[in-house]
Amino acid sequence: MGRLFGTNGVRGRINDEMTPELALRLARAVGTVLGPGEIAISRDSRRGGTMLTNAVRSGLLSTGCSVVDIGPSPTPTLQFMIPRLNCVGGIMITASHNPPEFNGIKVMGADGIEVSREVESSIEDVYFNSSFRKADWAEIGSTRNYDRAIEQYISAIESHVDAEAIHKRSLTVVVDGANSVGSLVTPILMRELGCTVISLNSQLDGAFPGRNPEPTPENIVHLAEVVRSTGADLGIAHDGDADRATFVDENGRILWGDQSFAIVASRVLARKSGSTLVTPVSSGRLIEDVARNAGAKIDWTVVGSVVVSHRLKETGAELGGEENGGVFYPPHQPVRDGAMTAAQIVEIMSVENKSLSEIVNELPQYYSTKIKVSVPSEIKTRLLEPLLELTKDNERITIDGIKLIYKDGWVLLRPSGTEPLWRCFAEGKTQEAADRLCEKGKKLIEEAIRMSNS
Ligand code: MG
Repeated sequence: MGRLFGTNGVRGRINDEMTPELALRLARAVGTVLGPGEIAISRDSRRGGTMLTNAVRSGLLSTGCSVVDIGPSPTPTLQFMIPRLNCVGGIMITASHNPPEFNGIKVMGADGIEVSREVESSIEDVYFNSSFRKADWAEIGSTRNYDRAIEQYISAIESHVDAEAIHKRSLTVVVDGANSVGSLVTPILMRELGCTVISLNSQLDGAFPGRNPEPTPENIVHLAEVVRSTGADLGIAHDGDADRATFVDENGRILWGDQSFAIVASRVLARKSGSTLVTPVSSGRLIEDVARNAGAKIDWTVVGSVVVSHRLKETGAELGGEENGGVFYPPHQPVRDGAMTAAQIVEIMSVENKSLSEIVNELPQYYSTKIKVSVPSEIKTRLLEPLLELTKDNERITIDGIKLIYKDGWVLLRPSGTEPLWRCFAEGKTQEAADRLCEKGKKLIEEAIRMSNS
């Protein structure tokens, strides 16, 4: 049986792999598995969004599901609305941070969280077996539009922060919406919180003329320049579907994802003693330090935002996060939410009356190194066994690859999901320590390859 879903939904080149036919069949499968009932849909600004939405709508209706279209919006806006509209699920047309020629489909359950691997498998079974539910002529679903989603979502975020303190501080914020749906939310949210807003790339355009939709440091250099030249207090950059936010301080310094995550985590976890933070094993020392200082426990998961969301829902933990800057704040909703994270950062700056650079400078400093080690495809998955044997005396976490923990840092060894290689990611108190640990990881992988070949 083939697979459709990757780490976050189904992705492909528009009209190449990501065709109306695929969207139609996938929606028929989703309606079959999640229906009967109403399914909420939305899309980002990408090309092909309307084409795919129409196919998805037809597919859902044919299974007897009804459709509520909330219009273009961020993924977390759709996720927020699904349970509030009493829908049995949701479909988001987006390829998140991928290049402009891609589009994709994310599928959410009734709780607004992207469906688990098990539900994805059921959807794939129906898709590949063509065992779609076919509604009787008299049971074809209906469609309606709902146009208050963004307004309700913004009000909810405002209710979770100290709006009065933010108003008093009256910050100047530059928002870079990546020519996509983050522009429909964050500039309005910030203005309503009393900030002066300068908008960049705020017209929706699927060609992404302003910048690449992934908010990496290379892609948001212009935002950093605008923050500095306008004397603004901070910059906020979203990815294509605004479930993530990257921040720039008043000096134009771009924060790493784990830094903004750590800033939010240190405050949220300290509110209650014995809090729990859910985070993948790829998260680093900074997060561990922040959790320890706040007296919180860490609940490690395998890598992937969907796993973090489901774990948060199961355990009722206080916060989730990823080193790429994804922050999950369950009192709002247990999914990555770029606008919620942005509101939390301006809240912290306002309540503590500090600049963003002062807040960042309070964080401990760590250094990292990443390398790839080529491994022949035929032994890639078999490498774990010799690696476990080679490292059996080390302090380690083995829930996803192997994370080896040393006094001066750690190194994580994981096979790539798609390429014939293993990744080696190390972090240390100095650059030299990180490089040394990465080298140690590489030697272990090479030794394991020799053991597998002999
Ligand atoms: Mg995204």
